[in-house]
Amino acid sequence: MSSFTFPPPARPAVPVEGTSALFPVRRILCVGRNYAAHAREMGADERDLPFFFSKPADAVVICPPGQSVTLPYPSATSDLHHEVELVAALSSGGSNLTPEQGLAAVYGYAVGVDLTRRDLQNGFKAKGHPWDAAKGFDLSAPISPIRRKANCPLAQDAIGQAEGKIWLTIDGQTRQDGQLVDMIWSIGETIAQASRLWTLAAGDLIFTGTPEGVGPIERDEIVKAGIEGVGELLFKLL
Ligand code: MN
Repeated sequence: MSSFTFPPPARPAVPVEGTSALFPVRRILCVGRNYAAHAREMGADERDLPFFFSKPADAVVICPPGQSVTLPYPSATSDLHHEVELVAALSSGGSNLTPEQGLAAVYGYAVGVDLTRRDLQNGFKAKGHPWDAAKGFDLSAPISPIRRKANCPLAQDAIGQAEGKIWLTIDGQTRQDGQLVDMIWSIGETIAQASRLWTLAAGDLIFTGTPEGVGPIERDEIVKAGIEGVGELLFKLL
């Protein structure tokens, strides 16, 4: 009988609101440029297909409601940006899903922030280098508890076109103030597209893109973000 060479690391997990259950995180996939105005602010053509990148599962930082979580300002950047995003948490998966099947795989939703070393990302874009160090660094995915989908009044249609306000403030000042209805690809379409590239499974988190208004976070600023019907989070960088 074989054994591990050392104890395996703990499984990253996100609390489920209103229960003592934890959602075990398997993979984190993120979609780029899923709101037209953000695609434009990043210099892209809004008609480009969305594309995906990933973060390691242990990038999640749990930000319980009403608590201010403090994170270290990340190394190797002087231009850390916020991107508030609706996160879909999957309890099943598969490959080559239809948008309807993709939506049916959703267990619940959370508010996430796709923290980005924008200075590194801009350099990588210019050189055609991979984005991993700009996107998938330690503690780069602050997330609220997951709210089960039956409790999320997102007014979705059959493929998950959601409605509701998505916002982020810094020290009380509005920086991002978007609407989920402005997502180019619905939740189900995004999951379907991801399932053509990876076999999705229970435990996967899908960050569905950010509206316009991304910008820097400075040390000591209070970052608060929320999605109508899903929840809120709060954190600070030191
Ligand atoms: Mn993003």
